Amino acid sequence: MDFTLTEPERELLDLGRAFAEREIAPIAAQAWREERCPTEVLRGLGDLGLLGLLVPEKWGGIDASTVGFVSLLEALAAIDPSIASAWQAHTTIGSLPLLLFGSDEQRERWLRPLAEGRALGAFGLTEPGAGSDVQSIRTRATRAAGGWVLNGQKAFISNAGTDMSFGVTVLARIDEGADGKPRFGSFIVERGAQGYSEGPKLRGIGWHSLDTRELFFDDVWVPDDQVVGEPGAGLRQFFGALEVGRISIAALSVGTAEGALRLALEYAKQREQFGAKISSFQAIQFKLADMATEIEAARWLTYYAAARRDAGQPFKKEAAMAKLKASRVATAVTSEAVQIFGGAGYLLESPIARFYCDAKVLEIGEGTNEIQHLVIARELGC
Ligand SMILES: Cc1cc2nc3c(=O)[nH]c(=O)nc-3n(C[C@H](O)[C@H](O)[C@H](O)COP(=O)(O)OP(=O)(O)OC[C@H]3O[C@@H](n4cnc5c(N)ncnc54)[C@H](O)[C@@H]3O)c2cc1C
Repeated sequence: MDFTLTEPERELLDLGRAFAEREIAPIAAQAWREERCPTEVLRGLGDLGLLGLLVPEKWGGIDASTVGFVSLLEALAAIDPSIASAWQAHTTIGSLPLLLFGSDEQRERWLRPLAEGRALGAFGLTEPGAGSDVQSIRTRATRAAGGWVLNGQKAFISNAGTDMSFGVTVLARIDEGADGKPRFGSFIVERGAQGYSEGPKLRGIGWHSLDTRELFFDDVWVPDDQVVGEPGAGLRQFFGALEVGRISIAALSVGTAEGALRLALEYAKQREQFGAKISSFQAIQFKLADMATEIEAARWLTYYAAARRDAGQPFKKEAAMAKLKASRVATAVTSEAVQIFGGAGYLLESPIARFYCDAKVLEIGEGTNEIQHLVIARELGC
């Protein structure tokens, strides 16, 4: 398989990378330290058309390929994984449910502002009592005249509470089907809706520039035209968006690992001990060689999953494999990179510490790695 970028993909990568070097690199460490989502940078990406990457031009996007998206995400993550995480969540799970399952009216009203960079999208699935076990969510939508009334709580929702956030596309239980199993619907809830509120920004080990919050729904009325697709099809829609999200987390992982490798290599070439550069020690060389090899393996799995999506082929198994492998590589490589920095890498002010802290969540978000094992095993026929 040939993953050589096409001319438009190359132009996209150059455009995004130049912006990231100019606008993200200088502010990334400070935004991370201040635990602030720098929406001025996200607006800048929007001005370049990069908040509508996977959205067709008809709805305000630039209709890039998945391979093009993956290559740009990798480049952004190598510069700053935390800001890249906000961008990728918007681009995939924040926008795709509206694109893939929304009506034309909904796309015009809610997707277009997201794609044109005027708003940030969010995806509300996880709850305090329901993470991996999605079907146990308790947020409930009850039929009311002309719409639905939502009650419940969501946890860990990214991009819902910034000064650019439009609200959230949220999954809620609606009733039980004839087989007794719960049925779910997707609902668009706008900020400012009565009864809808957000908790404070959550504080994590890493991804400090990503805005993640709890959301509360207290008798929130949602009109019928804010139901995405068929009521009852919500779970399938969210799983569909998550498949792309897994390719995205894989690319974020590859970029995070690549950024850490670059920093470690640069440090090893200038740090001296025992009268020699530490990069001249075979123990350090072998670490760097292993890191580079693992990154390349993860990159190939990631591009393969992306290329399958672009070719219209099934990619569920490949996306899960890419996410599983790449996130493990990111945690291992960032840890080895800190090791190469020695004590200097242990200090929070050190650039490598940021990559180390940002890596762990890659094994948790958008389906933990244990869940990726389950997906792969099922696809194998277990
Ligand atoms: C920074 C961040 C951002 C996030 N953003 C969003 C967002 O925008 N929208 C959203 O909806 N969610 C979001 N999430 C939530 C994320 O998707 C969940 O945290 C994740 O799916 C895991 O759910 P959980 O945390 O409830 O863990 P749990 O499901 O409680 O899992 C706990 C442990 O048990 C393991 N486990 C669970 N079930 C099984 C099983 N059947 N077999 C083997 N092991 C199992 C898990 O792998 C894990 O190790 C975010 C999370 C974080 C940390």
